[in-house]
Amino acid sequence: MVGADGAWSRVRPAVSPATPQYTGVTLVESALDDIDARHPDLARLVGDGSVAVYGVNRALVAQRNSGGHVKVYAQFRVPPDWRPAPDPADAEAVRSTLLALFDGWAAPVLDLLRHGGTFVHRPLYVLPVSHSWPHVPGVTLLGDAAHLMPPLGAGANLAMLEGAELAEAIAADPGDLDEAVRAFEERMWERAGTWATITAAGLERLVSPDPTEALALFDEVQPS
Ligand SMILES: Cc1cc2nc3c(=O)[nH]c(=O)nc-3n(C[C@H](O)[C@H](O)[C@H](O)COP(=O)(O)OP(=O)(O)OC[C@H]3O[C@@H](n4cnc5c(N)ncnc54)[C@H](O)[C@@H]3O)c2cc1C
Repeated sequence: MVGADGAWSRVRPAVSPATPQYTGVTLVESALDDIDARHPDLARLVGDGSVAVYGVNRALVAQRNSGGHVKVYAQFRVPPDWRPAPDPADAEAVRSTLLALFDGWAAPVLDLLRHGGTFVHRPLYVLPVSHSWPHVPGVTLLGDAAHLMPPLGAGANLAMLEGAELAEAIAADPGDLDEAVRAFEERMWERAGTWATITAAGLERLVSPDPTEALALFDEVQPS
């Protein structure tokens, strides 16, 4: 059995008692469609990549996807039981909450929220860094089920790579399938542990009481 069933894996309890814990950071995700035609000023702000603005314990990131679609992520530190509105499906109430949270920010940045469509509430949960388990014959995990971490560009890549590696290990007809899965797990744990460490530290700095921490992070990762 391969538990590739995400953050709230139903398979995980068969190998590990770990459960995801709240990071302290919540995202509210929104999107703008057809940005070049409908919001040319915002299209220029986002450019061909993304724009990110950092404040005290909050950040606003807009990321261009294909076809003029732009994802907007409002990120902030709130308690785990925080809700964007009594009825989270009430887009106008959620928009008001977000505009109040980012009150005083520059008008073009707030326009990303003013023109956003539906809103998705995403409190960020993680598994412990370097989560692993004593090998259980016949069961393994991969992807978020094994190593849920902050969404800073690694999780989907790891899940796809692990799926391919596990398939290759099985297809190689190793004779001892259990030993092949055990070796796969060791490799996954080591690599995922590295990324969980990087992304946990990244989230602490990107949504931090000191926004210069976020800017310094980008300086550190500039290619030489
Ligand atoms: C806002 C945001 C932005 C992100 N950006 C990036 C990024 O830029 N780059 C990146 O690499 N990663 C990114 N990630 C992380 C990425 O989305 C995840 O790491 C990735 O989706 C994990 O893949 P997975 O297959 O392990 O789990 P999932 O994508 O969660 O897939 C699990 C699947 O299992 C199914 N499932 C669950 N329970 C059951 C069950 N009981 N029975 C049957 N099926 C079940 C679910 O329906 C789902 O289809 C982002 C995450 C978020 C939240």
